[in-house]
Amino acid sequence: MTTGSPEGPPPQWKDIHQSILSTLDALNASTSWIATAATVGIEPVFERVLQQVCGPAEVSPQAYIEHITRDTGMRREVQQRLSRLMENPKLVTMRREAQRREAEHQLHVLHYVLSGKQPPEWVWATIDEDQREQLREAAESGEERDDQLLPRVQRAIHKLEVTPGIYGLCEDCYAIILLERLQLVPWAECCAACQRKREGVPDQAPEPEVRVTYF
Ligand SMILES: [Zn+2]
Repeated sequence: MTTGSPEGPPPQWKDIHQSILSTLDALNASTSWIATAATVGIEPVFERVLQQVCGPAEVSPQAYIEHITRDTGMRREVQQRLSRLMENPKLVTMRREAQRREAEHQLHVLHYVLSGKQPPEWVWATIDEDQREQLREAAESGEERDDQLLPRVQRAIHKLEVTPGIYGLCEDCYAIILLERLQLVPWAECCAACQRKREGVPDQAPEPEVRVTYF
């Protein structure tokens, strides 16, 4: 790891930090980074900013991260910028669209295993031969058939095809269902709190909000 050459002057962390902050602020006004953040998250975007600023300053991005990890104020300033980027409305919309597509894919694969009905071509085309073989075996054996789950999966697929705008909204309280929940339960009809109410399970602490956890 390089933290500037041993003979050279020590890294000017304050200047580097200010450059990082202003580069992150400038991103908010552009859209070039949004597609990347929507598909693979904010981390690669942040890493590119680190490279951009740290490279010319001849410090390694890791050294900068280590420095601000020890400095609560600096760390918080960076986290605020990253959180603000994550809340960018275009990014939020794109993430939800990507999530809907992903959920639709998952649901069709699950539907195949549950019902034996082959998924549509756009789903099948993304599955490699080994996986297809495994899925075929599971679908034909019928071992995974689940009369409770199948109608819920069919209902979610129908919703995605006919009224995609309401997919991912809680049917009971109309709140947006957390992406993390939809990734685990793509057929979810309601948010975790309403699901507990439906099942008569006592309420728990509120779900944690999604935060940028880079550090
Ligand atoms: Zn709800």
